[in-house]
Amino acid sequence: MIIGIYMHRTLQKYFGYSEFRPLQEDIISDVLNKKDTFVLMPTGGGKSICYQIPALMMDGLAIVVSPLISLMKDQVDGLVSNGIAAAYLNSTLSYREVQETTRAILDGHMKILYVAPERLCMKSTMDLLSYVNVSLFAIDEAHCISQWGHDFRPEYRRMGFLKEKFPDVPVIGLTATATPKVKDDTIKLLNLKSPSVYVASFNRSNLSYEIRPKKDSYGNLVNYIQGQAGNSGIIYCNSRKSVESLSRKLNNEGFHTLPYHAGLSDSKRHEHQERFIRDDVDIIVATVAFGMGIDKPNVRFVIHYDLPKNIEGYYQETGRGGRDGLECECILYFSRGDWYKIKYFIDQMSKKSERDIATVKLRGMIDYCESTTCRRKVLLGYFGEKLESDNCGGCDVCLKPRDTFDASDAARTLLSCVDEVNERFGMTHIVDIISGSMAKKIKSYKHDRLKSHGTGDGYSKSEWLDMAREMVRLGYLDVKGARYPLLSLNKKSREILAGGEVYLTRPSGAVDVKTPKVRNT
Ligand code: ADP
Ligand code: ZN
Repeated sequence: MIIGIYMHRTLQKYFGYSEFRPLQEDIISDVLNKKDTFVLMPTGGGKSICYQIPALMMDGLAIVVSPLISLMKDQVDGLVSNGIAAAYLNSTLSYREVQETTRAILDGHMKILYVAPERLCMKSTMDLLSYVNVSLFAIDEAHCISQWGHDFRPEYRRMGFLKEKFPDVPVIGLTATATPKVKDDTIKLLNLKSPSVYVASFNRSNLSYEIRPKKDSYGNLVNYIQGQAGNSGIIYCNSRKSVESLSRKLNNEGFHTLPYHAGLSDSKRHEHQERFIRDDVDIIVATVAFGMGIDKPNVRFVIHYDLPKNIEGYYQETGRGGRDGLECECILYFSRGDWYKIKYFIDQMSKKSERDIATVKLRGMIDYCESTTCRRKVLLGYFGEKLESDNCGGCDVCLKPRDTFDASDAARTLLSCVDEVNERFGMTHIVDIISGSMAKKIKSYKHDRLKSHGTGDGYSKSEWLDMAREMVRLGYLDVKGARYPLLSLNKKSREILAGGEVYLTRPSGAVDVKTPKVRNT
């Protein structure tokens, strides 16, 4: 009770807010009670005060471990301007500055100290801490400790020693990105002792999600941003080169954009970021290097011009939209070509464990893009959260339910061919056969003589591929094979062949009358 009043007073006095956000109060109470705590809260949810308020209320010095050296100064400046005794130690400081900070800490006046993980592990820092009363350790971006997190940092691995060296000091781990697996892994690796675990909802109801085919995407994009006159937006691309060229093209078109990527000098990056934040330019075209720690309220659209590598990244990037609570449209241009490109990069990774993790994550991203159920549901489901409603009202799937059609005959055409070649060929080959291809490969197998050859003339090849993929997704067809993915039949396939019904998304080019002719099977 009394503690509650103090907590509110501290919130009001140092931060000027009158109410806590959901979970903040409970988290702060636990930390004040010296409980280890794990906090999973989306960016912008208000994680910082969950350790800053306890730091102010407890005796001693709170240590905040953060990997973001570039943001430490801003964070500390913000606290200092609120009248909080805070400082940081990292490699950007001169010897002199380190000495000054050290002295202030030993004087006992400092309340919050930000350090990079590698700095914390240094002997000099540990020696320093042995002279001070540490109130708590806050590990920001705690997912960096897990190899399953999307930015694993080896120097985080050693944070587990804190609980051994300071068993009585509470450790609070905080992150905005963690799947259930990363969460468990992080708690384990941080050595948290029967921690309180807080998971805030990741649903950002003011963001809408849409996938567009990456076909004529440039024209489509131009059209879209023409309709956004004056609104702020971010366009993410996967490479520096495409950032530069897209930004230039858009500017030639008369839009005001600036590029942002790690290849630009620090000062240029800073300048472009500032001009975007100040609404000096409407649009920033960026690689994923853009956005860490940026809190621009009025971003009205976030476009992924290329496919993101994983859902964690995608969620973070789209999460930079609509910070003011107003609507923001998140549009992703999806193509399989992008998928193969990323897959190619993954295949070049030297460590098998890293390749495997990246592959699983990329798969999650593809499932999201190809989903025929609510995108928000898929997104939240990835983070272990269940969306109760069946219609979120804010994604393309829910807003524009797809037109499905009775595809039973088409499905039988495809399945019969899989059967006829004894389940020994992949999707493209099967589609080539039914499309009547006379390619060398088809002829060399004498597949131009199959009954199925040319039976699929009601649809184009790409339409057949779309239908085949959807059948795989819906479980009407299996993909097997160790070296090459081969199509094979399962129980559901047999039911269809025996006369069962299948409904599939209507291929974009197909109209009612185009029912493919089916030869007897
Ligand atoms: P996170 O670290 O989770 O991304 P921050 O701690 O940076 O989020 O908080 C995001 C924004 O919300 C900040 O501007 C912060 O001052 C504000 N904020 C945090 N808690 C409250 C609160 N109880 N009431 C109003 N604003 C808050
Ligand atoms: Zn939806």
